[in-house]
Amino acid sequence: MSESSNLSAGLDMIAAARPAARRSRQASVRWGSRVVTIGGDAPVRVQSMTNTDTVDVIGTAIQVKELAIAGSELVRITVNTPEAAEAVPHIREQLDRMGIDVPLVGDFHYNGHRLLTDYPAMAQALSKYRINPGNVGKGDKKDRQFAQMIEAAIKYDKVVRIGVNWGSLDQELLAAMMDENAARAEPWDGQQVMYQALIQSALSSADYARELGMNPDNIIISCKVSGVQDLISVYRALNARCDYALHLGLTEAGMGTKGTVASAAALSVLLQEGIGDTIRVSLTPQPGESRTQEVAVALEILQSLGLRAFNPSVTACPGCGRTTSTTFQELAKQIDDFLRAQMPVWRAKYPGVENLRVAVMGCIVNGPGESKHADIGISLPGTGEAPAAPVFIDGEKALTLRGENIATEFHALVENYIEKRFGGAAA
Ligand code: SF4
Repeated sequence: MSESSNLSAGLDMIAAARPAARRSRQASVRWGSRVVTIGGDAPVRVQSMTNTDTVDVIGTAIQVKELAIAGSELVRITVNTPEAAEAVPHIREQLDRMGIDVPLVGDFHYNGHRLLTDYPAMAQALSKYRINPGNVGKGDKKDRQFAQMIEAAIKYDKVVRIGVNWGSLDQELLAAMMDENAARAEPWDGQQVMYQALIQSALSSADYARELGMNPDNIIISCKVSGVQDLISVYRALNARCDYALHLGLTEAGMGTKGTVASAAALSVLLQEGIGDTIRVSLTPQPGESRTQEVAVALEILQSLGLRAFNPSVTACPGCGRTTSTTFQELAKQIDDFLRAQMPVWRAKYPGVENLRVAVMGCIVNGPGESKHADIGISLPGTGEAPAAPVFIDGEKALTLRGENIATEFHALVENYIEKRFGGAAA
């Protein structure tokens, strides 16, 4: 093979390493004038769920507001009792009064058919219903109760998510599929039957919803499991079998680093393949941790994959034996905190600022190179280096900072850069 064909094969591989496009149906989830499109050519959406008691109207409204400000584009709340159903329109009113128009999603299990029938104000105040086919009823009640929920969605023109979860998989369906499998000449492994049962439960419920008159564009599907490889297998198969918009999430991901990494690993593989139109990161908050952490992780996953941009990114090296102080770590954190804190105001004031890339590096080894790749970057002096910190702007060395006030001066340079580059774009 010639050098030029080697190069062209290499470039082909680079071109392939981008998220694949998936063309699904597109659902529109509405509240007032706010429309959140899911699927089709819409960006991958971020969802979250409250952990307050829905009966606590103020507490729930405050948490919904926090989640929405953190970047959640839909927020799900539990609707599990008549009291919770009664609270929903009041939560909606509180949010509207606070100027928070994020659509609310109702999470129903066991009694959703009754609640949606008996509490029309709740059915109206929600923008989307989550229905778990494994928890709608057993035997001959199952179809009837599922139908009642779909009829409410049709009546109030709401989107539904048919959300299957392996922790509450329809046991009658699973048993029937296990029996069928046992009768096969070459039975599948039990795990595969379970995957198929999850998908079958979702898709047969969607078929039934359509028979009842549901617009297929208003149906979103999820099949959540808690194992990374299981989730990837299930969603690849689900994706091959339908064109509904897909909600993606590793259920019961766990706490802290484990939950974050497991969610990122599973979601990244699927999103890279173009699978998933909306995501939720199901983190268990650590004691004292804000519920908004699950939103922060979801945004970071999408931004790291280059699917969406929410906040300026700060590239910082990990540090090593070439740095004797924590100056660059402190500066990287300060800049990152500062940029994030300003974003609620800057989004409107400096359109496009979320694409800003800042680098804060610890020494000459990778510092100048990485700083040149950023929009604005600084290479701090490592051990034994001259006490000078070159600053690079748009790939060129712009100046060198020295002395005690490097951090403050770099901070000011970043602000100036933002004002100059993004300030003029505001209408
Ligand atoms: S840039 Fe320098 S300080 Fe940072 S990790 Fe690399 S060698 Fe270490």
